[in-house]
Amino acid sequence: MKPVLFVDVDGVLSLFGFPADAELPGPFHWIDGIAHCIPPENGARLVRLAERFELVWATGWEEKANEYLPHILGLPFGELHCLTFDGRARFGSSHWKIEAIDAYARGRPAAWIDDNVGDGGETWAHGRREPTLLIETQSPVGLTDRHVRELLGWARGLGRQRDR
Ligand SMILES: [Mg+2]
Repeated sequence: MKPVLFVDVDGVLSLFGFPADAELPGPFHWIDGIAHCIPPENGARLVRLAERFELVWATGWEEKANEYLPHILGLPFGELHCLTFDGRARFGSSHWKIEAIDAYARGRPAAWIDDNVGDGGETWAHGRREPTLLIETQSPVGLTDRHVRELLGWARGLGRQRDR
């Protein structure tokens, strides 16, 4: 079974907070009346990550992630498992994600990429027995090739540990 990778959307795939006079990092897409800047390269990055991880949406977008992102990002796979948060989702924080992340990750190595890992995320990661990797992105930059390399390297390392 592959390790899980929990994927946030705002600040990871959809960027914000970049300087107004800078070149846009990607095209805007209108989703429910909100403009989201989503670089198409993030689709290829997710495809690479899916070779080694089970990707799971962990975002306040909830089901909207499956509705919009496979098309926008050109993902060759359809719907991913999607965590839901019973109306607790708030922009700019992530503590409300941890219960659902913890339940889904139980018994499995797990990585989580988010622009708001926060103290709650760190505490959660340290409290787990299973291998756990947190990656915090910067919302104007989001997911990068470097993050992809780090995640894939971590997943390969898990395989080597098992083989010993
Ligand atoms: Mg976010």
